[in-house]
Amino acid sequence: PSPSISSVTFFPTDPSFTSTLQSYIRNLRFTSTTTPKPLFIVVPSHVSHIQASIICCKTHGLEMRIRSGGHDYDGLSYVSKAPFMILDLFNLRSVSVDNGTAWVESGATLGELFYAISQKSKTHGFPAGVCPTVGVGGHFSGGGYGNMMRKFGLSVDNVIDAKLVDVNGNVLDRESMGEDLFWAIKGGGGASFGIIISWKIKLVSVPEIVTVFKIEKSLEQGVTGIVHKWQYIADKIDPNLFVRVVLLPVNKKHLQSIKAKFIGLFLGNGQELISLMNETFPELGLSFDQCIEMSWIESILFWSNYPKGTSLDVLLDRQPQQEKYLKKKSDYVQEPISKENLEGIWNKMIELKRPALTLNPYGGKMSEISEFETPFPHRAGNIYKIQYSVTWKDDGVEAS
Ligand SMILES: Cc1cc2nc3c(=O)[nH]c(=O)nc-3n(C[C@H](O)[C@H](O)[C@H](O)COP(=O)(O)OP(=O)(O)OC[C@H]3O[C@@H](n4cnc5c(N)ncnc54)[C@H](O)[C@@H]3O)c2cc1C
Repeated sequence: PSPSISSVTFFPTDPSFTSTLQSYIRNLRFTSTTTPKPLFIVVPSHVSHIQASIICCKTHGLEMRIRSGGHDYDGLSYVSKAPFMILDLFNLRSVSVDNGTAWVESGATLGELFYAISQKSKTHGFPAGVCPTVGVGGHFSGGGYGNMMRKFGLSVDNVIDAKLVDVNGNVLDRESMGEDLFWAIKGGGGASFGIIISWKIKLVSVPEIVTVFKIEKSLEQGVTGIVHKWQYIADKIDPNLFVRVVLLPVNKKHLQSIKAKFIGLFLGNGQELISLMNETFPELGLSFDQCIEMSWIESILFWSNYPKGTSLDVLLDRQPQQEKYLKKKSDYVQEPISKENLEGIWNKMIELKRPALTLNPYGGKMSEISEFETPFPHRAGNIYKIQYSVTWKDDGVEAS
């Protein structure tokens, strides 16, 4: 028998209401007293709690906000202007890995998923985002991109089944929901179609040794020329290689400038990487001693900025390393930006002092999948995605 729903329902008068609400708010912009609050929160531990919540919302005309990891950039999983409740899935987070596939519940984080895979196999991985605290539910239902997408596509390109509760409370799997609905939840925004409880994924093969690197270049070291060249090779090189560029303004008293971090994952060893880079991207000047060979699961920690030797257990930590106020938007770049225009962008970043740009290369597997295959349409023809982000630490309108 399932525990009664009252034991997993929190009203504003309950002592743990505020901590439950805030524990998965991942953008401090939505922690203010003026942020609309839910009438109550249900933290289901059983599917019957989800079904009862649906009936309750329909009967009382409430909006339901579904929250898995709470990383939505604009708080969509826990804020609404209409009267609403939150269905918070953090207790539904089991992961079971079996023979090259896994069932993962939506409330699991990517870190928990990666950790569970690594406990079963050294040669399996899964293509998904690199931030370990992102929730599976929102990530998969929006597509899910990460540093293996040039080789294996998005997370949803590797989803093979799912369990969902529909608006009438029916529990459906791929067969009973039909291919149209199954198509829609793989990138079309899950909450428009139901509550996805769990996903069956196909794991991918990764080598026992992968290679990572992180190189910084300043304006004086020729950032403009290097980024310009990167645009011509990043989506065309061997799909085993993913090179992200993070551009940041430098705001020192005597130096207003730009720096770029080139962060790489190569599904192969350091020697192979060096010969590939010498052939295709010598401008970066990557040397063998800047390459670090490690297992795929260790590369997840590297990409999350954990120091070498950090225990894999940090992947089970559901709290991010830092909480911030943030705003992020993205564009897709289909023609390389000229050097003159890159310099114009640098000048604007220097003037504004805060914005960071992250360039994620496409191509490879992403170009082989039709734009109609899933609701995520950004496939062939995109060189890279550019994400503009601003983060800040102080509360208030002025800081925003
Ligand atoms: C620090 C940070 C790093 C990120 N890095 C990446 C990255 O590398 N790659 C990438 O692709 N994205 C990245 N993202 C974006 C992230 O993938 C999306 O914001 C994703 O939707 C978050 O999922 P969540 O479950 O944590 O979010 P939530 O806020 O819980 O949910 C997001 C949306 O999905 C809906 N939803 C959640 N769970 C379900 C469910 N079970 N059923 C139906 N609807 C549901 C919610 O209602 C909401 O509309 C990042 C975000 C942050 C804040």
